Amino acid sequence: MTERIYLSKPHMGGEEIKFINEAFEANWISPAGPNITNFENELGQYLDGINVAALSSGTAAIHLALIILGIQRNDEVICSTFTFSGTCNPIVYLGAVPVFVDSEPSTWNMDPVLLRTCIEDRIAKGRKPKAIIAVHLYGMPAKMDEIMQVAHEFNIPLIEDAAEALGSAYKGKKCGTFGDFGVLSFNGNKIITTSGGGALTSHNQDWIEKAKFLATQARDKAVHYQHSEIGYNYRLSNICAGIGRGQLQVIENRVELRRNKFDTYFKGLSPNSIQFLTEPDGHFSNRWLTAVLLPKRINVYELISFLESKNIETRPLWKPMHLQPIFHQYPFYSNSLSNNLFEGGVCLPSSSNLTIGEQDKVIQFMKEFMEN
Ligand SMILES: *Cc1c(COP(=O)(O)O)cnc(C)c1O
Repeated sequence: MTERIYLSKPHMGGEEIKFINEAFEANWISPAGPNITNFENELGQYLDGINVAALSSGTAAIHLALIILGIQRNDEVICSTFTFSGTCNPIVYLGAVPVFVDSEPSTWNMDPVLLRTCIEDRIAKGRKPKAIIAVHLYGMPAKMDEIMQVAHEFNIPLIEDAAEALGSAYKGKKCGTFGDFGVLSFNGNKIITTSGGGALTSHNQDWIEKAKFLATQARDKAVHYQHSEIGYNYRLSNICAGIGRGQLQVIENRVELRRNKFDTYFKGLSPNSIQFLTEPDGHFSNRWLTAVLLPKRINVYELISFLESKNIETRPLWKPMHLQPIFHQYPFYSNSLSNNLFEGGVCLPSSSNLTIGEQDKVIQFMKEFMEN
């Protein structure tokens, strides 16, 4: 059997093991230690000087952001429908109500016009939303000027889910630095990984201190263990942070490699009437995954199973949250776009360490399928 071609796999830079060894030598095998502090500082520097809390996952980061913003039971929180469930699960952890908003065609991310319609309608119903979670899906920055304009106008805090968008930028400014909070993920399939991990970012240092406090069981300043608030065990380990430090050293290269994969697919497949999402002016995508739209005559699942028979992993685009059995009862503001994307799209193998030969194979099999 030929070696499996994965959708997105880890790609170590080389220095990770050095930072892990340092942790072992100093016996910092815990959710505290110098790799954590250094990882936070280095990530903060990469993101133009923002404050960072290193956490156990991106989902944990969203959970803490919502808690710090004071989200309570039955509050409404607006969320992109076209995303991964990690974006909106934390809303439900808090007993709050997700309100889903559809995408717009130039970025596939939250439609700012529909966002306004949604907010006005919720206010008319006496249910002013308490927060907005906007996602940069597949690394493509959302229309941040327009979304932030609406958020400011109605004075609603904004959480930016940049889990897939480390290294992406909008009008020269890095994703993860726009919102009241930014969220990153270092899960194994993301552009850089700590094997599992995440981060919360904010320009508000007090909020980041609060996040670190909540992430370590909300322990009061006392010799004994005393708690005045409910805490969480959400801190990143010093070992994982060591992996993160090594990965951060190569982030720019990983962005370049992922963007090259996109360009190669574009050259190879756009003549076969496959549609690619191009970058609107001012949008710089890390191209975490190359996601394409297929002509109507192509059945996505047949294509996926054909490629699977060649030991190539591909995947439909994210199934929108309003179509998920567990979320379908929640309010949804639709323009049908995310339904169409889900029905007609596929994600292609996009690892930064995908070889030229492997990518060529994917392109050849895609063409073979399209031509038959
Ligand atoms: C991966 C991901 C998350 C969650 O991150 P984890 O670290 O896996 O918890 C949230 N939102 C989006 C869009 C993601 O892709």
